[in-house]
Amino acid sequence: MKRLSFTGGVYPVKRKELVKHKEIEELPVPKKVVIPLNQHIGAPCDPKVEVNDQVKIGQVVGDTDKFVSSPVHASISGKVISIKDMPHPVLGKCLAIIIEGDGKSEWVEKKPLKDWTAESPNVLRNRIREAGIVGLGGAAFPTHVKLSPPKDKPIDTVILNGAECEPYLTCDYRIMLEDTGSVITGLKIIMKILGARHAYIGIEDDKIDAIRKVKGMIDDGNIKVIALKAKYPQGAEKQLIKTILNREVPSLGLPFDVGVLVQNVGTSASITRAIMDGEPLISRVITVTGKGVTKPKNLRVRIGTLFSDVISFCGGLTREPGKIIMGGPMMGLAQFTTNIPVIKGTSGIIVFERDEVEILKETPCIKCGKCVDVCPMRLLPSVLGTLSANGRFKEAENYGVLDCIECGCCSFVCPAKRHLIQYIKLAKAEITAMKKAAS
Ligand code: SF4
Ligand code: SF4
Repeated sequence: MKRLSFTGGVYPVKRKELVKHKEIEELPVPKKVVIPLNQHIGAPCDPKVEVNDQVKIGQVVGDTDKFVSSPVHASISGKVISIKDMPHPVLGKCLAIIIEGDGKSEWVEKKPLKDWTAESPNVLRNRIREAGIVGLGGAAFPTHVKLSPPKDKPIDTVILNGAECEPYLTCDYRIMLEDTGSVITGLKIIMKILGARHAYIGIEDDKIDAIRKVKGMIDDGNIKVIALKAKYPQGAEKQLIKTILNREVPSLGLPFDVGVLVQNVGTSASITRAIMDGEPLISRVITVTGKGVTKPKNLRVRIGTLFSDVISFCGGLTREPGKIIMGGPMMGLAQFTTNIPVIKGTSGIIVFERDEVEILKETPCIKCGKCVDVCPMRLLPSVLGTLSANGRFKEAENYGVLDCIECGCCSFVCPAKRHLIQYIKLAKAEITAMKKAAS
């Protein structure tokens, strides 16, 4: 089998064996959910319900007329008991709708489009927006926006990202094995909306059974499965495009600049649910794993379920945790509490025990060049880190800091334990703020 890859990258220990073999279980309906009004890139939603309102599953509880945004829905039926700022795994704090369950699990009326092939791209795109679909790989970019490229940037090829290159996470792998048909149908819906003629599903070669299963169910000669070398960050958009199509997204550009759209396999499956079953995004599959969790699992979880409820369903913590991360260990975010909700972008919850967590003491750069060798964007992380640490953000911009995909490979290999990714994120945030202030 020919395996394709990209320049740079690293080979972290995968640790997927903890949970890889475990089928997706459904987490019982929680008694309470916290639905943040901002779970996506773009404008936050306004509340569409009031305290004491009764809501049904799938009812819109937050929306806005801003294009780059995505509505949020009730994931359980019950009563709105509060609308207030709550802890948020990405934003720190966010206005949220808190719903107390009534145990009835009543749905709003679903409006499936069984014969989606007869529908226009606009109807399908609107349904995806109404269903609140966002990228489930972690970025949470509204999918209807991605499916609306500029008129002068036609998309000829769709790539489904089934790489799941982050260590520990196995939710996409399980979706490819257990919900294969939905992944493929979602891809066909995306192709129809965009008028794209070709599609590829990129899967790392350490998931041979997923490659075989997906390949075996494809009935369209324009869709191909590509085996990718298992290397981090193989699932990053620009690396996938380069690897599979040998097309280079220009500096500060987007995939549509080279006629490509990339979606995650979980997003594709959720598009099928939204179109074929009329179900908005009220749940997602996550991986709950790490030595700090008693029984690691792959779970389908209602959006808004608290981390504490999820961990408790997995047998609880083994002991006082050293670190809890939302997402993968390379790009995920450390959390200070479990009193936070699963949001649309939550791909996993990883709990590390104390003896697994190292406090990294930074020492001076020894100019070994390792960070440069592994940077998949061919940047100079050591230079970017130094410029940012000294507040020389404009120079960092000239050195291409905005092209950094925040993969963390540079920090991962640095023998001096330089906090490169933190410096780089700081520079990006400062430059973005300066640009905003100037506009
Ligand atoms: S500079 Fe950015 S893109 Fe390059 S390795 Fe570091 S985090 Fe990744
Ligand atoms: S890997 Fe670390 S020590 Fe080596 S050049 Fe880069 S910043 Fe310096």
